[in-house]
Amino acid sequence: MNTKAYFGNFGGQFVPETAMFALNELENAYNTIGQSKEFRDELADLLKNYVGRPTPLYHATRLSKHYGHEIYLKREDLNHTGAHKINNALAQALLAKKMGKKKIIAETGAGQHGVATATAAALLDLECDVYMGEVDIARQELNAFRMRLLGANLISISDGLKTLKEATTAAIQAWVNEIENIFYVIGSAVGPHPYPNMVRDFQSIIGKEAKAQLKEQNLKADYVIACVGGGSNAIGIFNEFLGDDTKLIGVEAGGLGTHTPYHAATLTCGRAGIIHGMKTIVLQDKYGMINEVHSISAGLDYPGVGPQHANLWEEGRVKYEAITDDECVQALTLVSRLEGIIPAIESSHALAYLEKLCPSLTEKSVILVNVSGRGDKDMNTIMNYEKGKIYG
Ligand SMILES: *Cc1c(COP(=O)(O)O)cnc(C)c1O
Repeated sequence: MNTKAYFGNFGGQFVPETAMFALNELENAYNTIGQSKEFRDELADLLKNYVGRPTPLYHATRLSKHYGHEIYLKREDLNHTGAHKINNALAQALLAKKMGKKKIIAETGAGQHGVATATAAALLDLECDVYMGEVDIARQELNAFRMRLLGANLISISDGLKTLKEATTAAIQAWVNEIENIFYVIGSAVGPHPYPNMVRDFQSIIGKEAKAQLKEQNLKADYVIACVGGGSNAIGIFNEFLGDDTKLIGVEAGGLGTHTPYHAATLTCGRAGIIHGMKTIVLQDKYGMINEVHSISAGLDYPGVGPQHANLWEEGRVKYEAITDDECVQALTLVSRLEGIIPAIESSHALAYLEKLCPSLTEKSVILVNVSGRGDKDMNTIMNYEKGKIYG
């Protein structure tokens, strides 16, 4: 057993034998090319001059006054393409290029990871296929158009429910069929080893910057809050604080409520299982069939979670909570009105947790919230929500 592939009881490499070759090749490349000074310098330069890092740490004064605690926002929404996903997509695409791969592929649900990957492919002159469910292409017309405009081939998947799960299965199949030429860019801290480690490392710049930015002001975070879909923005900001006494809170999508079947609160309601090449906590029925999930936020709508989160949950190091669609929209509106910042609906789940946390605190606290992305992409969803059509 490859013990490095595990976080406690979770992780591993549950893939067909043919894919093991590619995973070993990737692990080698990541441990050599990925750790080289040349790669690190080139990536740092792109993150600075192309993505726009470091992102600001913003003291949200009106929100702080509203809640009676010092609230700081890590502004991943100000990254090029509007979210933290570019940190990882660009790094993986650069690694693919250095490995001599000509083509990168990606799966996407809402299209955010597809757009980030298509962007990196354009920049680095790589061919790019994006697998997306037919239903998602219709729902996310604008992102589908964006990917095509950036020069990616959008591959429409019409199996099953025609959404992310089927698109992921199709991408894995395409990868296994042409494993020598293709680099599979995974969009969250999920999948078989070494992806969860690699994605965490690429996203950990969020927490490194935030901790240093707090330190410059002689501050220390008492709490760090982030939303959890697959878990990449959360592990990205948590990683730097794992060894401290900072309390860490991951917020999952509670959808219409965890007492209903319409949610994506994996760690709140799931149990151990296997999904997309990893052992983790999975939302499943009593026969082990993976559940359909619901959230107003397409980016959190995933029935699994990264294996490191499953481990941090089991160890009790990170607390995981669920926020409903309604609570999320209230937070999005509040932060828009108080701060002039429209957060992504995913990030609004993290912000919504302030409403629960703040009244319970007896001492004045410093709370760091990761604003993983901007809400521009969500305006149709919010308009439809307000009309009572939350599935829009
Ligand atoms: C995709 C996405 C997420 C969820 O993905 P994680 O891997 O859990 O971070 C959160 N926020 C935004 C803005 C996203 O686009």
